[in-house]
Amino acid sequence: MDLAKLPVEPPKRRRIGVLTSGGDAPGMNGAVRAVVRMAIHCDCEAYAVFEGYEGLVNGGNMIRQVHWEDVRGWLSRGGTLIGSARSMAFRERAGRMRAAKNMVLRGIDALVVCGGDGSLTGADVFRAEWPSLLSDLIAAGELTTEQVEPYKVLNIVGLVGSIDNDMSGTDATIGCYSSLTRICDAVDDVFDTAFSHQRGFVIEVMGRHCGWLALMSAISTGADWLFIPEIPPRDGWEDDMCSMITKVGSIGQLNRKERGKRRTIVIVAEGAQDRQLNKISSSTVKDILTQRLGLDTRTTVLGHTQRGGPACAYDRWLSTLQGVEAVRAVLEMTPQSPSPVITIRENKIMRTPLMEAVQATKDVASKIHAKDFAAAMTLRDPEFKEYHRAYLNTATPEHPKMLLPEGKVCPKPTNSLGSPGTYFSQRMRIAIIHVGAPAGGMNQATRAAVAYCLTRGHTALAIHNGFPGLCRHHADKPISSVREVQWLESDSWVNEGGSDIGTNRSLPSEDIETTAECFELYKFDALFVVGGFEAFTAVSQLRQAREKYDAFKIPLIVLPATISNNVPGTEYSLGSDTCLNTLIEFCDAIRQSASSSRRRVFVIETQGGKSGYIATTAGLAVGAVAVYIPEEGIDIKMLSRDIDLLRDNFIRDKGANRAGKIILRNECASGTYTTQVIADMIKEEAKGRFESRAAVPGHFQQGSKPSPMDRVRALRMAIRCMQHIEGYAGKTPEAVAADPLSASVIAIKGSQVLFSPMGGDSGLEATETDWTRRRPKSEFWLELQHVVNVLSGRSAVGTNE
Ligand code: ATP
Repeated sequence: MDLAKLPVEPPKRRRIGVLTSGGDAPGMNGAVRAVVRMAIHCDCEAYAVFEGYEGLVNGGNMIRQVHWEDVRGWLSRGGTLIGSARSMAFRERAGRMRAAKNMVLRGIDALVVCGGDGSLTGADVFRAEWPSLLSDLIAAGELTTEQVEPYKVLNIVGLVGSIDNDMSGTDATIGCYSSLTRICDAVDDVFDTAFSHQRGFVIEVMGRHCGWLALMSAISTGADWLFIPEIPPRDGWEDDMCSMITKVGSIGQLNRKERGKRRTIVIVAEGAQDRQLNKISSSTVKDILTQRLGLDTRTTVLGHTQRGGPACAYDRWLSTLQGVEAVRAVLEMTPQSPSPVITIRENKIMRTPLMEAVQATKDVASKIHAKDFAAAMTLRDPEFKEYHRAYLNTATPEHPKMLLPEGKVCPKPTNSLGSPGTYFSQRMRIAIIHVGAPAGGMNQATRAAVAYCLTRGHTALAIHNGFPGLCRHHADKPISSVREVQWLESDSWVNEGGSDIGTNRSLPSEDIETTAECFELYKFDALFVVGGFEAFTAVSQLRQAREKYDAFKIPLIVLPATISNNVPGTEYSLGSDTCLNTLIEFCDAIRQSASSSRRRVFVIETQGGKSGYIATTAGLAVGAVAVYIPEEGIDIKMLSRDIDLLRDNFIRDKGANRAGKIILRNECASGTYTTQVIADMIKEEAKGRFESRAAVPGHFQQGSKPSPMDRVRALRMAIRCMQHIEGYAGKTPEAVAADPLSASVIAIKGSQVLFSPMGGDSGLEATETDWTRRRPKSEFWLELQHVVNVLSGRSAVGTNE
């Protein structure tokens, strides 16, 4: 049948196509699911184009309408279920003409493309050519003027799906954090064997033109040396690397005994090269370590395992919100607006002109090719540069005490890439304390702070077991819980969960007098507090006590770390990402247990205190049917509508996609409707059509090893805090106390990382803190509830909207 001969009536509803192209990436399915469901929610029809541009060129059964139920369960699936391909045909104009014809015949005039820079370039070429493609189709008699009339404008929106994170203009691409997770899991595992045998491991990770995965995995695992394409090592790197690795203690009995570092990890990006653009391969590095140092070295090339597996929490969140935003962009575009690509800056989803982002990405590659590495780094995102500097600051900091024989003083430290660091002119005694419950990333933040202090010549003092630990000092019989931290001790914290120095919920107000005495006794010049709402409260108390105690007139800086993510002023706390990943693993597994045969709803209770952040974000990441949070409460009408929705869901479920349904309930969502009561009510009302179970993961949610995101952000934010603290060096106590930012929280707010003051009329304590409910007054994530409801179909039945 020649479709072109059929009369084409413009469809009553707008038709939006979605395709995935280039290399597959975890999270692509989440993006497709979000585009499909958001399109349907907005009264459009959704079409999936199978096998990337190849499907667009071939048409036929490769372009199919997709319905709400078709994408059920896709969030937790790896790869791309609609297929991806590298299409030679689409690179030719003839192929794109066929693609244009297929789209017109199906009434599709908007396309969401999820892929790398190549795929997005292809999309832009297609959009630019669209009018001429249509004219050529008419001229060739393949379509009539009437047929093309309704489709004169093609809307294209890009989503960056790529594990490499190589697109300029966005902090993260869909898939990059999942891939980083895979790498970190592998390197963490290698740690154990490397430690056991005192071995070296050279690990090759993906990244032909972009060193993001290599850099972030080096940060997350505390690698000793790193090779990335953008920053080739200086000539003579072989000597630099060997000398550093010898110094930090893996080589030779004497060093091992003295320093105790038993493993050496080197990370090599697959596109690593020297300054003459000669490839530096993992086997070359291995040979150097083996031959020059006699180090028992193994190579591990991680290969395609880096692409596989389900998406991590962040990629599910990112792909879902970006998919929703892509549909919004399609519907808001005018014929004049340039094609956007959906990006993210810190925590803010944004739209950026697609071609600008693609061009900037290409410019980085051409600068590298021209050996202009400085310019290539300038073109990279500021975040990448900051992470690289942070890595240099913390990769095996050389400290006089660690590296030189007793009594000798190192005039200047150098870092692992051979560039000299500089001691800060005024040395400070910086105290580090953990307050509240343990959260993933606390150890990494402490390690980074210690490394920074050592690199800059400051003294890092760990306070063990929080404020009670500090106050344990007794005048007659000193039992000190305040200790100077050495590098080797903190180096091993790089991938450890919990709090190695010990954390405690007690507040300074319990003994403010002794707290002040101890501040003086140990001569603290600054206090770095890592923790959640208690940490925030503690600094608030110290700040307010400055009137009475001069000892507190020093910088008091909070780095939020709590799975509840309820610290006022910030949209992100360390540990919240680890918690989310643990929760989604739990939900995926429990849901799987009810696949195919059983019709079962799981009501899962999450932690989070009086903040529904974890429940809502996890709900978004697992595709929960409903999320109950303290901010909204639970009532009988809500439950009744949700039970109707469940009934409807089970009726429409198709065999292959059938799995358990998830409802998430925050632990404080209601005093009456407990998790068990809700599960029982559902069971009763289901009247045998389906069953329900309650599940409480409890402290399991704190996770074991911190997620890579918590690890890398811990490093970056801790270093920012140290730099902020350095800004107060040499100031009088009065001058410090007079500066509102001297007691502040480091925060991610929208697209920025900044310090928010605690005190003052516009400070966090007065304006943003709900002290009774222990959460911010306005919670940035509340609007995510709406997205959860839209994508579960809950908003269509009118629950609490
Ligand atoms: P990855 O980052 O995984 O490599 P990518 O999207 O960059 O993903 P490419 O192989 O570069 O992967 O591109 C994917 C497809 O996009 C190509 O096979 C081709 O069909 C299309 N494409 C790429 N560049 C162009 C172009 N300049 N014109 C038309 N189509 C293109």
